[in-house]
Amino acid sequence: MAETHTGVGRQRGARPWPRPRRIATISLHTSPLHQPGTGDAGGMNVYVLEIARRLAEADVEVEIFTRATSGDLPPVVEVAPGVQVRHVMSGPLEGLTKEELPGQLCAFTAGVLRAEAARPPGHYDLIHSHYWLSGQVGWLAKERWGVPLVHTAHTLAKVKNSRLAIGDRPEPKARVIGEEQVVAEADRLVANTRVEAGDLIACYDADPDRVVVVQPGVDLDRFRPPAVGRTAGRAAARRRLGLPEQGHVVAFVGRIQPLKAPDVLIRAAAALRDRDPLLADQLTVLIVGGPSGSGLDRPTALIELAASLGISARVRFLPPQTGDGLPAVYRAADLVAVPSYNESFGLVALEAQACGTPVLAAAVGGLVTAVRDQVSGVLIDGHDPVDWARTLGRLLPDVSRLDTLSRGAARHARNFSWHHTAAGLLQVYGETIVEHRARRAARLAGDPALACSW
Ligand code: UDP
Repeated sequence: MAETHTGVGRQRGARPWPRPRRIATISLHTSPLHQPGTGDAGGMNVYVLEIARRLAEADVEVEIFTRATSGDLPPVVEVAPGVQVRHVMSGPLEGLTKEELPGQLCAFTAGVLRAEAARPPGHYDLIHSHYWLSGQVGWLAKERWGVPLVHTAHTLAKVKNSRLAIGDRPEPKARVIGEEQVVAEADRLVANTRVEAGDLIACYDADPDRVVVVQPGVDLDRFRPPAVGRTAGRAAARRRLGLPEQGHVVAFVGRIQPLKAPDVLIRAAAALRDRDPLLADQLTVLIVGGPSGSGLDRPTALIELAASLGISARVRFLPPQTGDGLPAVYRAADLVAVPSYNESFGLVALEAQACGTPVLAAAVGGLVTAVRDQVSGVLIDGHDPVDWARTLGRLLPDVSRLDTLSRGAARHARNFSWHHTAAGLLQVYGETIVEHRARRAARLAGDPALACSW
């Protein structure tokens, strides 16, 4: 396994890698034009768009293929110079769930191949697929176009199934098989963290030489501590959001689904009332995001939960916020809670810290990397609301500890940026292109030892 972001990568600094002129990014099931924080749109959408922008700034054109889901958008949308989103007609525009999309793989792949066939030969130098459905498309396209395939899984079914939230549905066997196929066929597998790289190797038998860690980033221009200082910035953000200026705010931001476990935060607020009623009375739990089709059957379940626990007055809900509205949410909070059962990385945790807000997170998956325990936030083992209430009860009244964690959070977040991520990916792309060319040359020269496919 190699690591580029932190500079552990092979041949670091040895020679400049070739840079692709144009890459085909495949994001079948969700478009970077969708609002993240609801439905199937989340961190992957943010990742795809942020990376595309940074690559285009580095003179690498990016064409993003996604399934058409709206009649309002033209077939091709230029979102930034050098970044195009191409909508591929495959199945009805509305009404298909993510679980039904495997049935549209053929139609979608046909659309991608047709788009490439209309271009001059050798149009794309490389394919980068996101999520296993896109990996299946990339696998076929790679064989047709004779270019390498880089794949990022974003989530892994076997890992998710091993840590299922109560009420969540296990991922089907078809997805597990599909992921195994993509892992076997991709030239490089990009993992967000060492934990994910380890999962790819241990659970999917990935070849360690093809697994590379490139950490995601955060937009440090958008997500930054308030210029007026933490206290004044928090008050201003609360006024903007109509939240009480006094008292404590703990925010959850993200898609509302069992995997993300916003219910743990609500139950913790109720458990806090049993431990420390005065403190619990000063607490507002802020839930920001929309229902996600991939789990929560009843979007009103959290409202009902708060009512059944007798804490409706303590819980506020906000719809999904645009990127420009989110900094105020993070700054308004004393703590941002990320109680997920699993996270490939956890961009919300990073964004909150970049705004100077410490994070209380479950010690799972990428959150162990995204949050520095006791420095930029606190990691909690498990999802017992009593444990979460105990930590809230200890932290919230401790202003000086929160200030220290806040400074640690902003410092920790500065280790991440989308520029670093794009630089890491460019290295991976270059390496992969060189190896691919060498294998092709060996094949043409009839050297079976070198020409063997992975
Ligand atoms: N997000 C957003 N508006 C919201 C809630 C979330 O734009 O109301 C974004 C958030 O900024 C983050 C992404 O959705 O970049 C969620 O990414 P994360 O890695 O935390 O979770 P995922 O959705 O990938 O599971």
